[in-house]
Amino acid sequence: MTKVVIAGGGPAGLMAAIRAAEKNANVTILEKMEKPARKLRITGKGRCNITNTKPEDDFLENIFPDARFFRPSFGNFSNLDLIDFLNNAGLTTVEERGCRVFPASQKAWDVAEVLLKKVRERCRIECKAKVTGLDIENRTVKTLYYEQYGQELKISGDAFIIATGGISYPLTGSTGDGYEWAQQTGHKIVPLRPSLTGLELNGYSEIKNCMLKNVELSLLVDNRTVKKEFGEMNFTKYGIDGPIVLKVSRNAVDAVLANKKVEILINLKPALSEEQLVKRIDRDTVSCSDMRFFDMLKNLLPAPLIDLFLKKTAIPAKKQLKDLNSLEIEKLITNLVSLKFAVKGYRPFSEAIVTAGGIDLKDVNRKTMRSKHIDNLFFAGEILDLDANTGGYNLQIAFSTGYLAGEKAAALHSV
Ligand SMILES: Cc1cc2nc3c(=O)[nH]c(=O)nc-3n(C[C@H](O)[C@H](O)[C@H](O)COP(=O)(O)OP(=O)(O)OC[C@H]3O[C@@H](n4cnc5c(N)ncnc54)[C@H](O)[C@@H]3O)c2cc1C
Repeated sequence: MTKVVIAGGGPAGLMAAIRAAEKNANVTILEKMEKPARKLRITGKGRCNITNTKPEDDFLENIFPDARFFRPSFGNFSNLDLIDFLNNAGLTTVEERGCRVFPASQKAWDVAEVLLKKVRERCRIECKAKVTGLDIENRTVKTLYYEQYGQELKISGDAFIIATGGISYPLTGSTGDGYEWAQQTGHKIVPLRPSLTGLELNGYSEIKNCMLKNVELSLLVDNRTVKKEFGEMNFTKYGIDGPIVLKVSRNAVDAVLANKKVEILINLKPALSEEQLVKRIDRDTVSCSDMRFFDMLKNLLPAPLIDLFLKKTAIPAKKQLKDLNSLEIEKLITNLVSLKFAVKGYRPFSEAIVTAGGIDLKDVNRKTMRSKHIDNLFFAGEILDLDANTGGYNLQIAFSTGYLAGEKAAALHSV
């Protein structure tokens, strides 16, 4: 019986354990927190967006930096396989807008508990067991060292899986410990960056209580549009966040790190063509010619944006519409369709949903999740240089790579 030892009891580690046990391995998970899957329990604002039912090619478009790496693990344990697995384990799921799948109970906690129940049926799970390092001889891990209740302990095994996650939300236990061991054993680490995170704006003063719906956000890098997203976003203390901001954040963070000029443009009226907008404003200036500019803005904008527009257009609030000149009308229209801000930075790992970067995919066999440097070492989950958009894709990465790593680790001698 192959003895499989797993570092990390997040979704990747738990799924690896379940699959390895199904393949008759003797499995031990070492988890440093007092409870496994702390991060999983807070996913999706406590609701857990488990996966996404998009077909394979559409699904893979949401995976970075190299979706081809993910194809074999997704093919081996897909989004639909995951849903079947959870349903059979007793968790009912529901599909919502954007093909996103959630537990019917709307409780992320239930997803964690269903996985743990499966794990406990056939595996040993040690909590408060912090892995501290590995012992390697002849390209083979011999021992894994860990601390538990003040004691220094070690465990041997035939195959080892590192599933210690990334470094975002470190209070959940994901503090990036595994990167160090990977590096020490010859694996390259692609620089870590926060992803799915808020963006800080230059010269910005807080706009309070402003959530925008049905707007279009463009990300410009060195004056070129690199991404466009439609949907919801919020203004915050430091700048912007919300669904469409998270979607452009990966590119924005990389561009900021490369010292490029990074800007965002918000089209507040994407349903209208510029021509329609001009017509509407011309009509208002004629039919309501005595109206003050301030009142026109009240009709055009959410209230928290009015001050910003007065500043950006430099038009006095009390000016009557009949007195607006063509330059002023042009300024108003430009700001309505492309409200521009310079991006100066991004929110740190402590607030980022996911870590971009990690173990270089070139150092891992995508068909087995096995290291190309150490014969009995496997990797799974966010520790890999694999991340994704919001929408359930990141958890599917953890589940699919965990499943494959568990399967192949259990069958090590035939890998
Ligand atoms: C707020 C938030 C919301 C999210 N919502 C969603 C969502 O709805 N849908 C989605 O798809 N993705 C979501 N994600 C992303 C998703 O949670 C992660 O991508 C996923 O949890 C990664 O799984 P993992 O098992 O690789 O790593 P983790 O979940 O980070 O698990 C790693 C585990 O390893 C343990 N560990 C670390 N170091 C050691 C050590 N030295 N010894 C022993 N154990 C160790 C940790 O304690 C942890 O339990 C969200 C993330 C956050 C932060």
